[in-house]
Amino acid sequence: MSESETEIITCDLAIAGGGMVGCALGCALAEQGFRVAVIELNEPKKDWPVDEVDLRVSALTRASQHILENLGVWEHMKRMRVSPYQEMRVRDAGGQGSIHFDAASIGEPDLGHIVENRVTQLALWERLDEIDGVTRICPDSIEQITLGDKPHYLELKSGKQLRFDLLIGAEGATSPVREMAGITSSGWAYDQHAIVATAWPEQHHGDVARQRFMADGPLAFLPIDDGRCSIVWSTSPAEADRLMALDDDHFCQELAAAGEYMLGRITRVGPRGAFPLRLRNADHYVLPGLALIGDAAHGIHPLAGQGVNLGLMDAATLVDVLVAARAAGHAIGSMATLRRYERARRGATIGMLGAMDFFKRLFSNENPPLTLLRNLGLNLADASGPVKHLMIRRAMGLVGELPSLTMKKF
Ligand SMILES: Cc1cc2nc3c(=O)[nH]c(=O)nc-3n(C[C@H](O)[C@H](O)[C@H](O)COP(=O)(O)OP(=O)(O)OC[C@H]3O[C@@H](n4cnc5c(N)ncnc54)[C@H](O)[C@@H]3O)c2cc1C
Repeated sequence: MSESETEIITCDLAIAGGGMVGCALGCALAEQGFRVAVIELNEPKKDWPVDEVDLRVSALTRASQHILENLGVWEHMKRMRVSPYQEMRVRDAGGQGSIHFDAASIGEPDLGHIVENRVTQLALWERLDEIDGVTRICPDSIEQITLGDKPHYLELKSGKQLRFDLLIGAEGATSPVREMAGITSSGWAYDQHAIVATAWPEQHHGDVARQRFMADGPLAFLPIDDGRCSIVWSTSPAEADRLMALDDDHFCQELAAAGEYMLGRITRVGPRGAFPLRLRNADHYVLPGLALIGDAAHGIHPLAGQGVNLGLMDAATLVDVLVAARAAGHAIGSMATLRRYERARRGATIGMLGAMDFFKRLFSNENPPLTLLRNLGLNLADASGPVKHLMIRRAMGLVGELPSLTMKKF
């Protein structure tokens, strides 16, 4: 294409990354009348065998469900598959400590839903196509960014150019926008890999999520609505390599034993994947004309299933900030505007990262007095009544200063 033929797209916001978080932000902002371009590297898969469960699933909180309901995609997601769980049972493998969370105890129908990531992404990706003011650009990615003169502009690998007021980095953990902008991150690699797979236990899970904390890492059995479980088994890298190399029969035997046969034997297992785990927080979430959201901004241990929930909160918070800025006549890409987003989200995320890091370390420790105290603490928390109810509501994302999109209004 010659320079005179270069396609130039003008928008208010360019979002790099059409994953769950980038798409959610795109839908919400377009609904508010912003012109949005979403640049995605890979066309999301449109169909898959109906009985196949994706390796990547997330436990979505009630707050995330409300966001997805308000964006008009939850019903579509339900038709694809969302699996509610009413209870959660957590056990400490190093003692008798356990805690049981029950939705009925706080008058809720469930504690949340286990949802395949591809279901959430596809529903949002297709919703983007229905809203005026959205340009989906796929497959493509950013070649070069020029921030400074307004409007800012960027060039895509395809040769297309975009002019925009605010660029969002939402391409996940390895975010090229974060790298190109020179934003550093703090954190460390956990000495753990998470093995994920779909497992067929002998007994029905009864819509209960189960987690067993072992010194090497937690093992979670997350219920899928047809009786299968999606498992997330965090363990040392060497042990993960060994488990990944086992044939299916031996893996099933080891999985059932590691889970103390909580659902009987494991009769079958699907393909397995392994992910290295790390804690990471970008040192800045914003620069003039640029903001990071989702895993591009932060990465958290999956033990409490908070990663995408944090990302959807980033998106919902940013929507409130940008709508307020526009109403006040302020530039959406100015630092005065973007710092409001950073202040609201960085503090909340550091709190969550710290809490998950603390739990990871606490449960990895085999020191006998600490193990005793930990088990005592779990049992005390289990018997704590109102405190436990507050813990449940907090885990569901229903406590604190919440952005408008999390409010039930659909
Ligand atoms: C084992 C495991 C279990 C987990 N369980 C949970 C859970 O139970 N609950 C929970 O909340 N979270 C969970 N998480 C975390 C969750 O998966 C992430 O937080 C979530 O996927 C982040 O979403 P995102 O949209 O920010 O990024 P991603 O899901 O990584 O999406 C990024 C998107 O950007 C695209 N992209 C990449 N590079 C480019 C580029 N250069 N240009 C354009 N597009 C690009 C990708 O194709 C992708 O579509 C888990 C994570 C792991 C590893």
